[in-house]
Amino acid sequence: MISILNLFQKLIIITSLLIFCLCENQNKIIDYDNHHNTDEMLAALNYVHATCPDITYLYDLPLRTDEDRPLRVIVFSDHPKHHEILEPEFKYVANMHGNEVVGRELLLKLAEYLCQEYNNGNKEIKKLIENTRIHLLPSMNPDGWEHAVQNTWNNTVPGKYGNVSTMMREYGATDWLVGRSNANDVDLNRNFPNLDEFIYEYNHLANHKNNHLDIETFQALISGKDCHNKPYQVETIIVAFWIMRNPFVLSANLHNGDLVANYPYDDSEYHTQMYSKTPDDTLFRQLAESYSYTHLSMRSQKKPCSTDVFENGITNGAAWYPVCGGMQDFNYLASNCYELTLELGCKKFPPGKELTSLWNHNQGSLVNLIWQTHLGIKGLIQNEDGKMIFNATIKVYQAEGDNWKYIDHDVTSNIGGDYYRLLVDGSYAVEVSYPGFKSQTQHVDVNYKSQQTDAQRLDFILESVSSKRSNLRKILRNLFNKDKETINWNMTLKRKMVINYCYHGIVFEATFKLHDDLYVVQFKRGDNELLFPLNIYTTVFDE
Ligand SMILES: [Zn+2]
Repeated sequence: MISILNLFQKLIIITSLLIFCLCENQNKIIDYDNHHNTDEMLAALNYVHATCPDITYLYDLPLRTDEDRPLRVIVFSDHPKHHEILEPEFKYVANMHGNEVVGRELLLKLAEYLCQEYNNGNKEIKKLIENTRIHLLPSMNPDGWEHAVQNTWNNTVPGKYGNVSTMMREYGATDWLVGRSNANDVDLNRNFPNLDEFIYEYNHLANHKNNHLDIETFQALISGKDCHNKPYQVETIIVAFWIMRNPFVLSANLHNGDLVANYPYDDSEYHTQMYSKTPDDTLFRQLAESYSYTHLSMRSQKKPCSTDVFENGITNGAAWYPVCGGMQDFNYLASNCYELTLELGCKKFPPGKELTSLWNHNQGSLVNLIWQTHLGIKGLIQNEDGKMIFNATIKVYQAEGDNWKYIDHDVTSNIGGDYYRLLVDGSYAVEVSYPGFKSQTQHVDVNYKSQQTDAQRLDFILESVSSKRSNLRKILRNLFNKDKETINWNMTLKRKMVINYCYHGIVFEATFKLHDDLYVVQFKRGDNELLFPLNIYTTVFDE
């Protein structure tokens, strides 16, 4: 019954939007002087898709929020439904803090803009869409957004604005905290597995793991609590899986409350305020500046919001203030994706009538950041028979005078054998390795040209030297030894293992199995399933 009502509501909204657009202004898909509630946001995304069906694709992340709202993504590409080999993927995530809403509206506007400009034959936008796969998630926390609005409405003098829509257009919402968290009052940008702690521990070890901390993520998630002792939330888990399952290269997470482009790490070893460098510090600074320099006011500000002054409009996360369990560090340490956190203005929920000006300030930088997915190098990794190698390790050494300096953060190849490595201009030695194959090193010079559609191409054909395989069961046994007491587990089949455990009051069934050549953990909750990628358990194992 509820879903039929919902459907009717959506139909009415879509119809009214259609009528509005046809009558008012042929180019205007979305009312841009006001905020969009969840139903309006979904209707706007559906409308963009209907207007540009060939270059867009809509999907929902596999679970809904506690208040039953979907997390809907719109994709732009010339083949929007699938990853294309050698075409990098980009994502924007907004409204993770429910009362920080500018990013949500900017992504709706960006979706409309990309669609319109593509249809109008804008050469730059066509080139961008044809050579990049772009995912936009306008709201990661729709429940928080609704709470922020409801709270403001409840505290408004009756009759002052007539209705909620007018209140949002004229006034916005001003509470600094209400709606920031999700419906369970958990701050989603403190709720990701704290992978930084593993890195600080591993850095002291030789041959340490510096990327794709998938086992660590899994261990953290089944422990149930984040670093602030809050349970992992549905929004966090599905976005974490999304990050790990997709070949994202670059990303930004859109917030409000200040005006600055923030880059990892967000946390430091003892959670103190200090500059906390990643091995990719130069690259991250360049990425952050690529946003602040093309934004109309981010770079030149003096004291935009409070007492903080940001040179060039950028800051290292922990140098500003340390965050444990943030999403940007998780991207860097759990996947191949490089993420920034963009603070898009002092007001968290400005009046809707200010949104056009905010779009004008951000439009160039939003597009420019997507172009940065084409920095550095990319290529294919295959064996001598032409079979693509998934999960090969790509190590990079940068020339510094007569020396090669190792950048201590490797990336890995995707299922199709393609890899992407963002790099600043310079000379590099690139070493590719995979168990059972001879490592290979090639040299390359990187020299980025603005709006280039292809990173420098560098392919590898690896020579087989042995058929040694790692022992899957041994790895799994080590992994679960620690949690044996708390989890009811049994290894029912050689290639399948079932665990039942209770998370957040809900019983999940987790099954290890092969899926698309990947070892995954399949989580089930009712009819929905989530596939957790454990990249380490690929096709190399003993029977
Ligand atoms: Zn925020």
